[in-house]
Amino acid sequence: MKESILIRLDDACEFMDVSKWSRLESILDKYGVKPVVGIVPQPQDEEWIHKYPPDEQFWQKVETWKEKKWELAMHGFSHHYSLKKRRRVGINPVNSYTEFAGIALNCQKEKIAKGIAIFNDKDIEPRVFFAPAHTFDLNTVSALRECSNIRIIHDTYASDIYHRYGMFFVPVIPLGPHIIDKIRWMNSRLLTKTFVYHPNMMVERDFAAFEAFISMNREHIIAFDDLVFRPRKYGFNDKLIKFIYCDMIWLYGFIKKNFSAFKQFIKHFSVLRSLHNYFSYAAWYVWNGSEAVFPFDISDVTLRVATDWESYLDIYANEPEKIEKQYQEWFAGQNVFFALQHGDDIVTYGWSSTLGCKGFRVGLDDMRVTIPENTCYLYNFNTYHEWRGRGYYPTLLMLIQRYYANKQLFIYARAKNTSSRKGLTKSGFECLGEYRSSSVTLKAALAKIGVKAVY
Ligand SMILES: [Zn+2]
Repeated sequence: MKESILIRLDDACEFMDVSKWSRLESILDKYGVKPVVGIVPQPQDEEWIHKYPPDEQFWQKVETWKEKKWELAMHGFSHHYSLKKRRRVGINPVNSYTEFAGIALNCQKEKIAKGIAIFNDKDIEPRVFFAPAHTFDLNTVSALRECSNIRIIHDTYASDIYHRYGMFFVPVIPLGPHIIDKIRWMNSRLLTKTFVYHPNMMVERDFAAFEAFISMNREHIIAFDDLVFRPRKYGFNDKLIKFIYCDMIWLYGFIKKNFSAFKQFIKHFSVLRSLHNYFSYAAWYVWNGSEAVFPFDISDVTLRVATDWESYLDIYANEPEKIEKQYQEWFAGQNVFFALQHGDDIVTYGWSSTLGCKGFRVGLDDMRVTIPENTCYLYNFNTYHEWRGRGYYPTLLMLIQRYYANKQLFIYARAKNTSSRKGLTKSGFECLGEYRSSSVTLKAALAKIGVKAVY
């Protein structure tokens, strides 16, 4: 069966990032895509009110969206989270905070009635609802039935549209298209899927990714008017999808979030520590001036260097969300920050320590090294996820080699991190050996380049 994709834009209201919204609108117009827009009738979300000046033209814009046949949906009432719980709430338990779930029916009815009145005042009769933070409960359903003509909730985990509690539910995917594409088993089960975008929060690369997605999938993207509402029952496939999204993905996120804490915990026990070292030991590399070939034309990229916090901030002027506050302290130790810029984006970065460092403890093993003065120690490299696998890491390393010209460079990678190790080899680094508790050959290899290791 042909897949159907809907585009949903959240958080349209008088307090929004006008330029980002109009940029997104021009992309949608270019491809003739009609999205569903979630309008907040009486915004009281403090984050927005303090961030954006009120847009006097907002409801005129809504009028033009209406003329373009965009679906104007009611996205809550105030978007103010009145309830924050420890557990995820409601019948669509995505988040633990909510404007609706767990709120008394009377209060919910008042919100819905007031919201509808604001829409009606602007000559709009919404037929679709979705709640802020995706969270609502059966009282929300009752309030919608009693105080509005809305019979469609555009927010659920399911394989297709279904009918339940006297409402139609249209499915939404909480993951981005690039992730869902990889989960083929799941993707094939989703007949109607909605990708949700928050224009206020989009950054430069999101717009490029958005346009690429739209142009590649244009034939599958439908308008809300194209949906067919059959009274299908909520079934096994839907339950399975809800289970995977709500429970499995949450569990995965929880483990991922707490993984480093868990690793620290096991490192407290010597037996477990040996085990940990065995599985995550380091491979050490040196660069002594051998030249490698750049993987692409380097006129496309710029090496950015920061030796203080101000110049670091300047590097991320276009992408402030990538700023890592803890790095402010790192500059105190005369460390140097390097980044590779491609267009407006920083794609990869890393650090170097230029002082002869004495006996610092390396991150992966129980090993201390003392580095001689003519050597730079390179560390904490990272390529942003969306830019991986394109040769930026070796390019950055090679530009750092040029930067330091006559110095010896010293770096490690996790022994099992094959992509990082490949990058090092590509950029002319030579492997000295891998750390094992019993390894003496590594010690000797390090001694040859003047690095003293104790373990
Ligand atoms: Zn929202």
